[in-house]
Amino acid sequence: MSLPLYLVGARGCGKTTVGQALASALGYAFSDTDGHLQRITGKTVAEIVAVEGWEGFRLRESHALQAVTAPATVVATGGGMVLAACNRQFMREHGQVIYLSAEAGVLAARLQAYPQQDQRPTLTGRPIADEMVEVLAARDALYQDASHYVINAMQHPDKVVDDIITLLALARA
Ligand code: ADP
Ligand code: MG
Repeated sequence: MSLPLYLVGARGCGKTTVGQALASALGYAFSDTDGHLQRITGKTVAEIVAVEGWEGFRLRESHALQAVTAPATVVATGGGMVLAACNRQFMREHGQVIYLSAEAGVLAARLQAYPQQDQRPTLTGRPIADEMVEVLAARDALYQDASHYVINAMQHPDKVVDDIITLLALARA
């Protein structure tokens, strides 16, 4: 049975983009925890946060993680999924966890280029470049702690997918 693959990392690192490509390359299903929440609540992340606060959102996010976990599935997780120790432990125990790592400046440039694709409210209300520096300072260690593998996500998405497939093949060998 093929274990689920969880992609973790800050918003903009490519979890959705790379996750979809990886799933199709492997013949796996693809799930996005934010997308799952949106489907079952009929609300965007921003709307859930506006009504229930980040605390309410985080609780729903943990449930979403468990709901989308299935064999032969690539799971793109929300950027803050690793904040809860129980989520980090759940992912490590149920599958292979891959951290898509990128510098703050790269993340900020991507999010600025396509602001409409990112439905998440800013965490601080400050300029995105400053915010990404802060987010990584606070979370890089958690992404590392949650993951089995760290991948350079500052490459073309096709290369990121190739690197992941190579790593998984090596791990199985
Ligand atoms: P996440 O799901 O981690 O928030 P996305 O997959 O939505 O990230 O990507 C955020 C933006 O960055 C999108 O516009 C996407 O096209 C772009 N992007 C993602 N991965 C890469 C990459 N490896 N190289 C260049 N742009 C990328
Ligand atoms: Mg995404």
